[in-house]
Amino acid sequence: MAIINRIADFHEEMTVWRQTLHAHPELGYEEVWTSDFIAEKLASFGIEVHRGLAKTGVVGVLKGNSDSGRKIALRADMDALPMPEANSFAYKSTHAGRMHACGHDGHMAMLLGAARYLAETRQFDGTVYFYFQPAEEGGAGAKTMMDEGLFKKFNADSVWGMHNWPGLEAGHIAISHGACMASADHFHIAIRGCGSHAAMPHQATDPVLASAAIIQSLQSIVARQANPVDSAVVSVTMVHGGSAFNVIPDEVELGGTSRAILPETRQKIEQNIRKIVTSLATAHGCEAEIDWRAGYPPTINHSAEADRAAEIAAGVVGTEKLHMDLPPSMAAEDFAFMLEAKKGAYIWLGAGPAREGKMLHNTGYDFNDMILPVGTSYWVKLVESELASR
Ligand SMILES: [Zn+2]
Ligand SMILES: [Zn+2]
Repeated sequence: MAIINRIADFHEEMTVWRQTLHAHPELGYEEVWTSDFIAEKLASFGIEVHRGLAKTGVVGVLKGNSDSGRKIALRADMDALPMPEANSFAYKSTHAGRMHACGHDGHMAMLLGAARYLAETRQFDGTVYFYFQPAEEGGAGAKTMMDEGLFKKFNADSVWGMHNWPGLEAGHIAISHGACMASADHFHIAIRGCGSHAAMPHQATDPVLASAAIIQSLQSIVARQANPVDSAVVSVTMVHGGSAFNVIPDEVELGGTSRAILPETRQKIEQNIRKIVTSLATAHGCEAEIDWRAGYPPTINHSAEADRAAEIAAGVVGTEKLHMDLPPSMAAEDFAFMLEAKKGAYIWLGAGPAREGKMLHNTGYDFNDMILPVGTSYWVKLVESELASR
């Protein structure tokens, strides 16, 4: 494995950073301690630090030995999850009900490691931006930083992302051409009828029956509307209505989520949900109100950048540990917003075999520190290649 020697030298120190971050998990837009830690480290490496975008976002700016005017951005996420930690090791969460269960502690440590190495060597021709973003877990911190001027102030030619991936052998890397993660949208639906005595349903307009028909029919979107070789999900996950066995309620509320790999499928799902809900509510004499909450778009790699990422990854881990054929995940990732605006690629860094209780978002999960030098070497090689002297 082509781990850079100098990076292997500070593997132990990166492990300490990672475990320190693990012990101090903070939720989206509340990463105050975390962003102080990042900013202090970057400054100590001699990197220019900018703060304040999306409240807790941190951007490091580093110029190489020469400046061709080319610029690339590497991104890490900083937030933890609102969940308890079941681990008992010394560096377990010190904040009750909060946990770094997605490995963002490891992502920060790897990007800091790369920043340190690149600040020492500066063997590149141009500028590197280190984007540390808040609120990846549902809060769209990447989008907030963009809305607040990220690409105006630190305008990279390309953006690059990485996520550790339990289920893929440790130290392997997977890269997709096209989509690697799904879109994630949410909906709240109110079905309004007219309540009455349950023994006199002819005097009511029953939103419960209408809701039952709607829930059933929403499943026809994936079964009948989506192309079977495409991937899509519609899940109704919340049903609220009624207060007594002998009362037909006025209103029932439904909630759920939809996922898609292709942007056109995502759009079609929304149109079909609206159509089914409105027409079935009408058919039952009810009214429907749909509150559609567009979430993250699908994460779609740019083809040429995916190829270049693959070339770098093969150089770091070897072609036998590089996977170009992993199916996309139906999870979502807000780096997708950056890839909509800029060229770039997002990779999965293998964290070890799938084991029960050790997967992402599990109370027993822990980032695999053995892969820190792999991710860091990938970042460094990527910068030195993308910004190679011409
Ligand atoms: Zn996560
Ligand atoms: Zn994550």
